[in-house]
Amino acid sequence: MIKENDRLDQEFIRLALGINEHLPGYVDSYFGPAEWSQAAQQAGKLPLTELTQRVDQLAGEVSKLDNWDAQRRDFLIHQIGAMQMTLRLLAGETVSLIEEAQALYNIQPAWKDEAYFIEYQKWLDESLPKAGSLRERLEGWQKSIEIPIETTRELLPFVVGTLREWAHKKFRFPEDDSFMVEFVSDQPWMAYNHYLGEYKSRIEINSDLPMQVHGLVITIAHEGYPGHHTELCLKESRLVRQMDYHEHLLTLINSPWCVIAEGIATSALETLLTDEELEDFYREEILPRAGMTHLDVKTILGISRAERKMRELWGNAAFMLHDQKKSKQEIVSYLQKYELSTEQEADRAIQFMSGPLDRSYIFTYTAGYDLLEELFSIADRNKYFRRLLEEPVTPGQIREWIKNESVSD
Ligand SMILES: [Zn+2]
Repeated sequence: MIKENDRLDQEFIRLALGINEHLPGYVDSYFGPAEWSQAAQQAGKLPLTELTQRVDQLAGEVSKLDNWDAQRRDFLIHQIGAMQMTLRLLAGETVSLIEEAQALYNIQPAWKDEAYFIEYQKWLDESLPKAGSLRERLEGWQKSIEIPIETTRELLPFVVGTLREWAHKKFRFPEDDSFMVEFVSDQPWMAYNHYLGEYKSRIEINSDLPMQVHGLVITIAHEGYPGHHTELCLKESRLVRQMDYHEHLLTLINSPWCVIAEGIATSALETLLTDEELEDFYREEILPRAGMTHLDVKTILGISRAERKMRELWGNAAFMLHDQKKSKQEIVSYLQKYELSTEQEADRAIQFMSGPLDRSYIFTYTAGYDLLEELFSIADRNKYFRRLLEEPVTPGQIREWIKNESVSD
């Protein structure tokens, strides 16, 4: 006899694997019983009407459970709500990007006024070496801090080992964790973490894109320690093994969980180290090993932060591409003007947000980062970062924490 709990979370997994047959890549990682994924593959593309009916039924049953932990139930309800939207999109329904992002990610993205980006351009104008247009100056700067792929490979064991030690000290997770790193080509992203289960991951780094001297540390913090890999190790340890919450045997690429995952990953490095510690680490360890001690760390990190803010323009580009139906050329010009990107980078941005799984994914980075920063500005960063790493959390749950922490002040 299957317990009621198990019946529902197993149905959730079967449905996710069923949708994955229509939308390969939808299940981002799966480390449950092999029979379940084999059964889904053998069944192939079940009719969308059947999947929809089963997902609706599951949504109804889960919302009625009153003996479940409230946070667990809330998380599952939102994951199932995202599945319902995915099925509507698969059935060919057209919805606005905002409606899609609300249902898939439990967030409400908005168009960002160009004045925001112009402010960062002004800041760059004051900070970058002079001579040439602002875009030429930024490009020149980026080239001047690039490292060759051989240097990246040489730095890798040191960076992974150091961040691992610090992350373990701060967040305590299974000692037998590890990941392998592979260099790949022809991908729209910079790096990707594939969680394999049993505290193991495979991290891919795109070797087509230039790596800047500070970039490897950011990448390993984001994908590994204490970012994606660490989160999934802790969730497997606590939610799957200790609590038997089987819904965490897989991750879905289009679900509210993504906002939490990208929030954790984009704030991972600044949670691990203070600004001062990070500057020292680059100055004393990374720059000498890369043979680039002539560079000023504060300038590197300042410009890097501005570039990260300007990357938020990709959200506007997604609105232009999907809602406003602007031409590719118009979007490329827009990105060149406000993000100061090259034509190649702008093309890559459009490629990134063109896939069926990635239409609105771009919003998860900023939404996740901003939500966590708001929380950390009024509450204990380490305490909540740990909760995010090992509890089922939705963006709505973080908004609730923010409300409670503001009241208690
Ligand atoms: Zn990520």
